[in-house]
Amino acid sequence: MADQNYDYDVLVIGAGPGGYVAAIRAAQLGLKTACAESRETLGGTCLNVGCIPSKAMLHASEFYDAAANGAMAAMGIETSPKLNLDTMHAQRRDAVKGLTGGIEFLFKKNKVDWKKGHATFQDAHTVKVGDETVTAKNIIIATGSSVTPLPGVEVDNDKHVVVDSTGALELPKVPKKMVVIGGGVIGLELGSVWNRLGAEVIVVEFLDKLLPGMDDDVRKEAAKIFKKQGMELRLSTKVTGCTVKGKKATLTLEPSAGGDEETLEADCVLVSIGRRPNTEGLGLDTIGLEVNKRGQIETDHDFRTAVDGVWAIGDVVPGPMLAHKAEDEGIACAENIAGQTGIVNHDVIPGVVYTWPEFAGVGLTQEEAIEKMGGDKTKVKIGKFPMMANSRAKTNHEPDGFVKIIAEAESDRVLGVWAIASVAGTMIAQAAQAMEFGATSEDIAYTCHAHPTHSEAIKEAAMAVQGKPIHI
Ligand code: FAD
Ligand code: NAD
Repeated sequence: MADQNYDYDVLVIGAGPGGYVAAIRAAQLGLKTACAESRETLGGTCLNVGCIPSKAMLHASEFYDAAANGAMAAMGIETSPKLNLDTMHAQRRDAVKGLTGGIEFLFKKNKVDWKKGHATFQDAHTVKVGDETVTAKNIIIATGSSVTPLPGVEVDNDKHVVVDSTGALELPKVPKKMVVIGGGVIGLELGSVWNRLGAEVIVVEFLDKLLPGMDDDVRKEAAKIFKKQGMELRLSTKVTGCTVKGKKATLTLEPSAGGDEETLEADCVLVSIGRRPNTEGLGLDTIGLEVNKRGQIETDHDFRTAVDGVWAIGDVVPGPMLAHKAEDEGIACAENIAGQTGIVNHDVIPGVVYTWPEFAGVGLTQEEAIEKMGGDKTKVKIGKFPMMANSRAKTNHEPDGFVKIIAEAESDRVLGVWAIASVAGTMIAQAAQAMEFGATSEDIAYTCHAHPTHSEAIKEAAMAVQGKPIHI
């Protein structure tokens, strides 16, 4: 029952994985709830233009690649694949339609009112959504993030020449030559899609390694794997400008540390240099809520902002910009509003890059673990196991990758797990759960794992922490 002074107990702004999950949990807990969303469909970046459509294209292009590159022929299946890009796009749109419609169904089922339109604060308990004024005792900001622009490189998704991730999902034909600016998650996932479908892909990365934030061994291996797949990597290089003439883009590049300029032509340029929080037009000034230097809204552990009654979760607050992190924060925030104890353990948030193979990790990198131990390398133990020695990966012709477990030497407690494997994204769940339960590497080593599975590599890496793996 809503507080008589307000229309709702909870109003959530933004229906991405953070916002829609918070709204559903709040309603489940008996709070009268509404959710404002300016997009035509629910589900936010993740369902509309992020996780889901990118995985639809990755999955489909993986099949095409397996047929085209001889991987299927090696298993006795001879095909000469023909790409029907329109059908590939149609199945992507279908997946998005089904899942965004599913959230609409869940809102109805849980009696969450969808307020359609852009929300702007009038005061800390009042928001204008389109022509409607809505009041709520608690307001959760879950407005997510958008593409970070690169000065001098203007994105125009409709022309299909210089695009961001949304435009790169919608290309009407396979570009001959694609330059990806930024060798992070989006660049490598969407670069992989078009590489598999036949584009020549060049990745320009400012840093000296791909995939910032991941363990160094994983980052080094990533460069080898993507090169082997035919991508050209231009590391320690920055893009300084871009001109477009008709259907061609000309980029100017120079070494990150400065030096001679060169030019590079492309039919398509993907700008994927990160994302930034959405706070513009939200009226934060009106309620006296400031953002930090990175444009994020800071909260306490309960997801309360500095303004009473206003909460924030997901990409708009600090932490990794990941859908599952946003979802968990949404649940915890709603539970805190309802007077329960909602907690998110930010030390155990897995991250996955859904390329082939997949790159996954949870917890600390080796470098971070050593730093945590005051720089003393002897206080950290490492166990590593190659996928080449895993029976299932070997049988499936998937030799690339490894599992690496980082444990504290004294207590044997697992501090981080990193995996490169065809199904690393699925494998990492057991590592996250083990870490959540405070497992030691010995706990994992003595847990029976089904054979033959890729997950046995996690068990073997745990055994390797003790110096006793069986299969290497
Ligand atoms: P969002 O999903 O961004 O949702 C915020 C919503 O708020 C939007 O729908 C927006 O329209 C709405 N909004 C904003 N301001 C207002 C306002 N003032 N009034 C009303 N509505 C408003 N993460 C993963 O974990 N796994 C993946 O595989 C993955 N793949 C990705 C692929 C791509 C190409 C991209 C771009 C991102 C991907 N991500 C992935 C990241 C993931 O999409 C985000 O971390 C996640 O969507 C964040 O959720 P959120 O609820 O905080 O915000
Ligand atoms: P990112 O931070 O992962 O990678 C951006 C890369 O661009 C970095 O390697 C950075 O060094 C580089 N860069 C920055 N400026 C540059 C410049 N001027 N020239 C060349 N390189 C430059 O960002 P992203 O790939 O855009 O992804 C954004 C967010 O979306 C990420 O935070 C990620 O968490 C999320 N996302 C997640 C998934 C997933 O979970 N599978 C998939 C896609 C996106």
